[in-house]
Amino acid sequence: MLRKTVVNRLVDILGSQNVYHEKEDLLVYGYDSTPALQYLPDIAVFPRNEEDLLFAMTVANEEGMPIVPRGSGTGLSGGSIPIYGGMVIGLTRLNRIMEIDEENLTATAQTGVITLDFFNAVAARGLFYPPDPGSQQVSTLGGNVAENAGGLRGLKYGVTRNYIMALRGVLADGTPFSTGGKCVKDVAGYSLRDLLIGSEGTLGIITEITVRLITPPQDKRTFLAYFRDIRTAGKAVSRIIAARIIPSTLEIMDNTTINCVEDYKAIGLPRQMEALLLIEVDGHPATVAQEAAGVKEILEKVRADEIHEAKSAQEAARLTAARRTALAAVARVSPTTILEDTTVPRSELADMFAEIERLKKKYRLKLATFGHAGDGNVHPTALADERNQEEMKRVHAFFEELYDWVLTKGGTVSGEHGIGISKRVYLERQIGKGGVAVMRRIKNAFDPKGLLNPGKMFLDGPDNARPNLAPGGSNV
Ligand SMILES: Cc1cc2nc3c(=O)[nH]c(=O)nc-3n(C[C@H](O)[C@H](O)[C@H](O)COP(=O)(O)OP(=O)(O)OC[C@H]3O[C@@H](n4cnc5c(N)ncnc54)[C@H](O)[C@@H]3O)c2cc1C
Repeated sequence: MLRKTVVNRLVDILGSQNVYHEKEDLLVYGYDSTPALQYLPDIAVFPRNEEDLLFAMTVANEEGMPIVPRGSGTGLSGGSIPIYGGMVIGLTRLNRIMEIDEENLTATAQTGVITLDFFNAVAARGLFYPPDPGSQQVSTLGGNVAENAGGLRGLKYGVTRNYIMALRGVLADGTPFSTGGKCVKDVAGYSLRDLLIGSEGTLGIITEITVRLITPPQDKRTFLAYFRDIRTAGKAVSRIIAARIIPSTLEIMDNTTINCVEDYKAIGLPRQMEALLLIEVDGHPATVAQEAAGVKEILEKVRADEIHEAKSAQEAARLTAARRTALAAVARVSPTTILEDTTVPRSELADMFAEIERLKKKYRLKLATFGHAGDGNVHPTALADERNQEEMKRVHAFFEELYDWVLTKGGTVSGEHGIGISKRVYLERQIGKGGVAVMRRIKNAFDPKGLLNPGKMFLDGPDNARPNLAPGGSNV
């Protein structure tokens, strides 16, 4: 139970508009975009500057309260959910872009800047920040760093990690840290920067981020290809990569996703097709022309049923937007949307589609699959109802078997959404007891009291918060 004096201390320094402690206010900070999990924090604070943040952390330390960093709450593994209660620190008010440095081709921003706003701000100066998660209109840069977010342009341009040059922030006990800088080469000591990227708010709170920028591509061509058979779409992906063509975007949607997007947006996607590939090649106009011809040739050779090329930048943007709405579109269909993040080496992609299809039939599930095919990373998404226990058991068994298959193929249980709460059961299966033990030691070195985002990454939270598939993961 939170003492009134604690609330008063925080209100005195941060102001009442930046401190929430009534249940009805706290409800919204108890969940993120992961289904079937909700845990109330004791208090939620929104620092306006680093002094506010340090003060809030001092109070949390004095009270021995868990500290849970939160960006926009679009996470898909439960990372910002306070399963032990405590203090949620919302970072969205630290939202200033501080510098765009055209001499060094870097930009520095506070953690709470929205990804798309940042992209647009650097684009206005003729520069390009490629990481573009599907959530870019809402997600924060800090959340992207903490999850090492990928995006639609990941295949050619890489993920968030590939752009991070420096990070500033504070450890759980309030000790400030700064790692990296604007130097393109820097091997002074361990790379704490790389350790913090993808650390899911368990090692430190990031306050400021410096990224590398590049010049935007001069030209771009966008294709949509439709297939009556999803394995052929998988084959097309492998052939494009084997031909040494690296599109900036190579995304897939299956028949269920096509229909959900069509119901949502009505943009004229053919409902009878089993799969769609969205392919974009960009770069110097001569290279783009050559790669576009190569892509077309491969699509024809594997016998794609229809191949369309966008006639204008507006049409290309409309097609990409259709892919970006996939999760929102499938989420409307059923009460519970359980989206996973299976990733395999690209050569195994066609077989993964076959395995997903086999398991979908075996467990009699309604499933939509879409994702970053070029990265070997797709999101099989169960459209279910958490109130139906029998169906949830089948969903759970489906993912268990699929993850076992993925691991035998050298794949990973999370390509981009992180471990958080929902993948903790799978982490040891992938990296072994030794891997988990080393990670625990690292966590302990950064946060010996275990105050920062406890119960994430490692399997030591309350039992009912184990997999996201367990209905009723809640203390509300
Ligand atoms: C529609 C939709 C599409 C998506 N598409 C993609 C996609 O294409 N690629 C992809 O990778 N992900 C995607 N995601 C997942 C999600 O958007 C990303 O993981 C994103 O990076 C989370 O950002 P956020 O600001 O919402 O962070 P939150 O969800 O608030 O937090 C995520 C994690 O980061 C930690 N955290 C947040 N801020 C900080 C900080 N300043 N310091 C330390 N820790 C911090 C939190 O504790 C938590 O563990 C999608 C989600 C949705 C809903």
